This record gives sequence, C-alpha cells and structure tokens, in this order.
Amino acid sequence: MIERIEQIRADGQAAIESAGSADALEALRVELLGRSSELTAILRGIGELPGEQRGAVGGAANRAQKQLEQALTERREELVGDELDRRLAGEQVDVTLPGSPLPAPGSLHLVNQTRREIEDVFCGLGYRVAEGPEIEHDYYNFTALNHPPGHPARMVQDTFYVDPASVDSARWDPDRHPASRPSARLGQERSEARPNLPPGPRDVLLHTHTSPMQVRSMELAPPPLRIIVPGSVYRRDNDATHTPMFSQVEGLAVDEGISLADLQGTLLELARAIFGPDREVRLRPHYFPFTEPSVEVDVSCFACGGTGSVGGRRDPLCKGAGWIEILGAGMIDPNVFGFVREFGYDPETVQGFAFGMGIERIAMLKHAVPDLRLFFEGDLRFARQFR
Ligand SMILES: [Zn+2]
Repeated sequence: MIERIEQIRADGQAAIESAGSADALEALRVELLGRSSELTAILRGIGELPGEQRGAVGGAANRAQKQLEQALTERREELVGDELDRRLAGEQVDVTLPGSPLPAPGSLHLVNQTRREIEDVFCGLGYRVAEGPEIEHDYYNFTALNHPPGHPARMVQDTFYVDPASVDSARWDPDRHPASRPSARLGQERSEARPNLPPGPRDVLLHTHTSPMQVRSMELAPPPLRIIVPGSVYRRDNDATHTPMFSQVEGLAVDEGISLADLQGTLLELARAIFGPDREVRLRPHYFPFTEPSVEVDVSCFACGGTGSVGGRRDPLCKGAGWIEILGAGMIDPNVFGFVREFGYDPETVQGFAFGMGIERIAMLKHAVPDLRLFFEGDLRFARQFR
C-alpha cells in the first residue's frame, strides 16, 4: 500500500511539472486530489486497515497529499509568470505596468515666481488679490485717477487706444461692471474738457497701469479695503529698460486713520521679505497725479549693504548711492475719493495709500538680470536659470 502511495505521488508530481496550462493543472488537481481520486479513497479507507498498518499508511498518504498540493501551487505560479512573459513579448505597450518616470516638470517663469512672492507678502498682511480687465475705460485708467482729460500726465504714459467696435464683446463688455456708469460720467467730462484731446476713439484703451482697479474696487465694496492688483500693462515704449508690455503690482489700503507711516511700515515689510531681513526703506518726495503727497521708495542696497562700495570699488548695482529705487507710492488724493464718494468713500473721513511696482524690475534687481527684454524673448536658457 505504501508503495502504491509513493507511485501515485511520483507519477502525480511528474504530470504536474509537465502541465502546460492552468486548465491542465486544474484537471490534474481533480484527478490526483479530488473526491474520487485514488489517494482520497486510500485516506478514507485507513480506518478499515489493520491497526498496525494505519499509522504508516496514513502518514504516507498525508505526506503524498501535501507534496502534491505543494507541487500544484508551485506549477501554478510558474504558469502565471510564463503567461505574463508571453503577454509582455506580444504587446509592445502594457499600460497596466508602472510607467517610466515623467520628464522633469516645467517651472514658473521668473516673472510669475516674483509676482507670487509679492502676493504672498501682502496676503500675509491681510490683503486680497484682485485682477482687472486689460481693455479698460479711459474713465478708470485716467479720469477717475485724477488725470482729467487734457492733463499732461496722460501724455507721459504713451497709450495704446482700442477701437471699441473691434473688441470681441466676450472679452470686453462696457457695461459688465454693475456699479460703474462710465458712459454717463464720461458724457459730463467730455462736454467740459474734451476739446483738449486729439480727435478719435479715445475712450477705450489697454490699461497703462493696474491702478484702474483702485476705483473699480472702491465701487464694489465700502472701506476698509486692502487689495493688491497684479497684471500685465501696456505702453508704447521699447528699449533696454522699457517694453510695450510689462507686469505691475498695484497696492491699495483704505480705512480711517491711515497715515504715511503705515505706508512706510508696509513697504519695509515688503522690502525685507523680498530683499533680506536687514533692509531699510526711505521715501523721497515725488509727483503722481493720483496720490498726494507722492513718494518714490528706495530700499537699502543689498549688494553693498548700503555702503555704496564693494571690495573698495563703487557698487555698480546702486551706482555708489547705497539705495535702489523700487517703487512709487503715496497717500490717495482726496480727489480720487471724490469719484467714489457715493460708494462710502467720504474724502473727509477716509484716508488711504497706494503703491505700484514693476514686477520685472523687482526680479531684475533681485536676480541681477541685465536687460528687461530677456524676460520676453522666450529663450529657455534664460528661463531655466530660475527653476
Ligand atoms: Zn550698493
């Protein structure tokens, strides 16, 4: 009996090892270990054997059963592996397998990195980011910012004017701003001062600064207001330090009891966040139409530490001055509040400050970029230096 069991095991194992498919293996399992298999019959009949044989036969049969089960499992795994190998050989792309690593992802352009850096600083100070339309009314870009028609400051910003009839109304709807009624107001302005302007369609333009959002934001919400407005702006300029398009961040804070000291403290926070914790700022008197007083803001030079010299030679970055101009700012002219008085901005009770900076200028200073045009040429060798 024990010899027969050994025979079943040996034949079974040989058959299992040569089985060529999962189906064949399953048939073998039924044949060798199933309910009507010879081995099962032997195991069932052990109780009827003479007592002295039971232990030996039972042990042999149990061992044979285990060995066959083991052989079946091993062969099944081999067959699955073979099956995968065959599929891999047959299919050039197996989308179920993990892919090779993606190429290195792209990165933000230096201008956008710098814009986000500035936004982060002001969001930390409780400001909200607002964005305005690039195609803008003369009213918001100039008139309501205290550049009345005919004002010489309009000529400083060489403006691209737009024929309103040529603009896709999906991109520019003159009446989409619910609180604005520029056409009505422009009618008034026009009859008074318009004759000073050259003839032509001059009520619609590409915004020359992001400042139009000052008045738009005040029309939408009463004070207190703290916003920054990043955006691309357009002027008819083109040389090493001017391009027809550049990026700007405008900032605006309006509340009761705001003073020039608040402006200075806010800009000090910005200067230290961008250019280093040891920076100082200074304000110099200047002129802008929509702020009074107006200032230009300098940051202490981060190349020479404000001394004006590096290694005994004049610092080329600050030209020996120890200070670098970074932006223009000022207290909002009460005349500007006059345009939004009906929206809760009484020039007698609210004050505010505004500032505006060129994002490329900040990036050029911080990263020693020598020419503004490098930002817009699309040369990857430039862009990759700032990943
Ligand atoms: Zn310096």
